[in-house]
Amino acid sequence: MIVMKTDATEEDIQRVIAEVEGSGLRAVVIRGEYMSVIGPVGDERRLDFDKVATLPGVKEAARVEAPYKLIGKEYARFLGEPGAHKRVSIGKIHIGNGEPVIIAGPCAVESKQQIVRMAEEVKKAGAHILRGGIFKPRSSVHSFQGVGAGSAQDAEEALSWLKEAGDAFDLPIVTEVRGEAMVDMVAKYVDIMHIGARNMYDQDLLVQVAQKGKPVLLKRHFGASVEELLSFSEYIAAEGNKDIILCERGIVPVGKGKSYTRYTLDLAAIPVVHRETYLPIIVDPSHATGRRDLIFDMSCASISAGADGLMIESHYNPAEALVDGPQMVTPDELKDIIDACKTLYRTKKELGRTSRA
Ligand code: PEP
Ligand code: MN
Repeated sequence: MIVMKTDATEEDIQRVIAEVEGSGLRAVVIRGEYMSVIGPVGDERRLDFDKVATLPGVKEAARVEAPYKLIGKEYARFLGEPGAHKRVSIGKIHIGNGEPVIIAGPCAVESKQQIVRMAEEVKKAGAHILRGGIFKPRSSVHSFQGVGAGSAQDAEEALSWLKEAGDAFDLPIVTEVRGEAMVDMVAKYVDIMHIGARNMYDQDLLVQVAQKGKPVLLKRHFGASVEELLSFSEYIAAEGNKDIILCERGIVPVGKGKSYTRYTLDLAAIPVVHRETYLPIIVDPSHATGRRDLIFDMSCASISAGADGLMIESHYNPAEALVDGPQMVTPDELKDIIDACKTLYRTKKELGRTSRA
């Protein structure tokens, strides 16, 4: 971590960057309101921090032993913003440290008619962003893989339906990108690029997606610790893209026998993430529980725990849904959930409990 003096010149900054790059590392430069910070990315043992500390304009240069630095609160402190939090903006929608943002839509895009109708329904229910998977990660190769899974042409057509649906109802769109081959195409259409739980560990995919410069929704792998979630989000930040939205979606249940829920929703991860990083975190109660009857309670619990938003699967006819029918709420149920969450958020605000630790 190299902290520049408040009066450091551009020439001073460039000299430090040259030193970092000359040592075989990359330099991530963050220009704060008060000062700039340069984060060397790579094997830091190769950089002579003592030498860097003597360069003109350098206030402090030291190795920081932590798996994540660029997204950490400690780092924000260097920028003169103690307790800083980030709001990820998608047009006029802001995720983080404000009203909870609701992402809703079907698990999978099934047809143009279905996604357009769902866009209208979720908009009416009060959602802010439309979701819908084009490629579905499935346990069985014999299951429906998503309307975009057949060919690049199928994928592009499905993406265009999702975009048309979003545009028609003024809703930004988010879809999961699977496989590096699809990154460019998905980036052309969506407002937020979603990396699914199963791909959280795919650092090559993370890097490619990050380079598109669009906001990234990174879901926690169901076997990952919070530290791993944060460490892997650092791969995105290291590409200079800090528009990262984290998502808690449940971890593997413990014990033998029936667990009653698809996964176990780790609610404590929300305030923990808020203490560790300035990035926003949302919750997906749909995949976490796998049960429609639990979505209302888990949504309320998530907002109470400080979640910056929710991602909820919804379908006008859950029984007819091609994927994840049992966890889909109807648009009417979605509206109830959103209304309740708004009330809860207002109550927290009245109690003075909405600002982060
Ligand atoms: C999804 O949101 O469509 C999804 C498949 O979720 P996850 O990656 O969390 O399983
Ligand atoms: Mn699903």
